[in-house]
Amino acid sequence: MKVMYQSTRSANAKVTASQAILKGLAEDGGLFVPDKIPALDVSLDAVAKMNYQEMAYEVMKLFFTDFTEDELKTCINRAYDSKFDTETIAPLVDKAGAYYLELFHGATIAFKDMALSILPHLLTTSAKKNQITNEIVILTATSGDTGKAALAGFADVEGTSIIVFYPKNGVSAIQERQMVTQKGSNTKVVGITGNFDDAQNGVKAMFNNKELARRMNEKGYQFSSANSINIGRLVPQVVYYVYAYTRLLGQGVIQKDEPVNFVVPTGNFGNILAAFYAKNMGIPVGKLICASNENKVLFDFFETGVYDRNREFILTSSPSMDILISSNLERLIYRIAGEDAQATADMMNALSGTGKYTLTPEMKAQLTDFVGGWASEDKTAVEIKRVYEESGYVMDTHTAVASAVYKDYREKTGDTTKTVIASTASPYKFGTSVMAAIDSKYKGMDDFALIDELCKVSGVKIPQAVEEIRSAPVLHDTVCETEDMQKTVESILGM
Ligand SMILES: *Cc1c(COP(=O)(O)O)cnc(C)c1O
Repeated sequence: MKVMYQSTRSANAKVTASQAILKGLAEDGGLFVPDKIPALDVSLDAVAKMNYQEMAYEVMKLFFTDFTEDELKTCINRAYDSKFDTETIAPLVDKAGAYYLELFHGATIAFKDMALSILPHLLTTSAKKNQITNEIVILTATSGDTGKAALAGFADVEGTSIIVFYPKNGVSAIQERQMVTQKGSNTKVVGITGNFDDAQNGVKAMFNNKELARRMNEKGYQFSSANSINIGRLVPQVVYYVYAYTRLLGQGVIQKDEPVNFVVPTGNFGNILAAFYAKNMGIPVGKLICASNENKVLFDFFETGVYDRNREFILTSSPSMDILISSNLERLIYRIAGEDAQATADMMNALSGTGKYTLTPEMKAQLTDFVGGWASEDKTAVEIKRVYEESGYVMDTHTAVASAVYKDYREKTGDTTKTVIASTASPYKFGTSVMAAIDSKYKGMDDFALIDELCKVSGVKIPQAVEEIRSAPVLHDTVCETEDMQKTVESILGM
């Protein structure tokens, strides 16, 4: 059955999957959503016997219905190959009472690789299918991990170029070094003086600027987005939840139909939304536990039904979750509004106007799948140390937020449902905070100084991605004011 995509903010014109991937964001500023979430059409027992690539095809073919089998399999095989340092792609590790789904075995050692290794292939295939001849300019705002993963994915991909904006003082030393050493003649990296939300707003404003789009088209360019609002990012993320569930089933850890909880360290709400889609495809899921750091706007939202971004922005040790506007939440809002685009648009307009919106009681009543939780900086550090001491397992700060939230949840509810924690980054990416949590003698040392220490403590081989940037030259040093983002883009494109 053909799945079409429409905006969360207006009920008109539906587009195909490839068109939605190309556009990124709908013209009215809404996000593309499938007109229905398809059900898996193979049994979970059968899926349990498939490898990651085979399973990826079973999931993606149901969403990307205008791709041929050959097109989709080519995209999948180009994405999930030896760029990953393990054949299983996303290993599930049983430690200290939970299953950690390691999503950081790709080129840039964070979970963004799971989707951004395939997006460039989906996008160039989509361009061909739609007779696009313009160069596709990927414009991305990053809180640290998306940027590098997108750069790595798009570098030297023909017919594309990529410009990444990141908050100059809001990413880790390793994250920044990863980005500014990026090779590829079609890549540009720009630091901005604002925070991640400023970067994201600046990018959204450019996407919504029709006059800019017209001038770009004259020059043979068009924008697309690699941010997690692109449906081409969201769908590949559904795959690993199906994978995690069926691995547990295959190993006999769970029985047929037994539910599993997923705990997801959350920022922009893309990763956990993918888990929600997996549930809607027929994966037995108990609770979706949404873990926040001290920027706990989502925790408050699930508690009260009020989304309120009017609060202090806090820089934490889990910078990829330092976000006050969780863009992908719009897709959930649309869903619990009964797919009412007008109601969704009204709430999103309130959010951009007053920074706030309130769910109706009927909408709030539909959030029973979700549990919100949050962990302070102290709690996060204590959790890193606890799990290390109990099991020898060293996790990164983002994963630790989720792990701490899960520990609380289990103690509070007594829920013993088997639980998978999305492990979103390698500890090597956030070594300063990870090592200081394990032993205060490491405090004050930077990520680079700690690489060898972390290797000794964790017994985990230093990833190639880290080895590479230790000595790589800095190739990007542009910094601009938030207000000047568009000017910077025009100058890069020679407009
Ligand atoms: C992006 C990111 C997150 C947050 O994921 P969302 O899909 O934005 O909610 C969590 N952890 C890490 C390491 C990330 O890079």
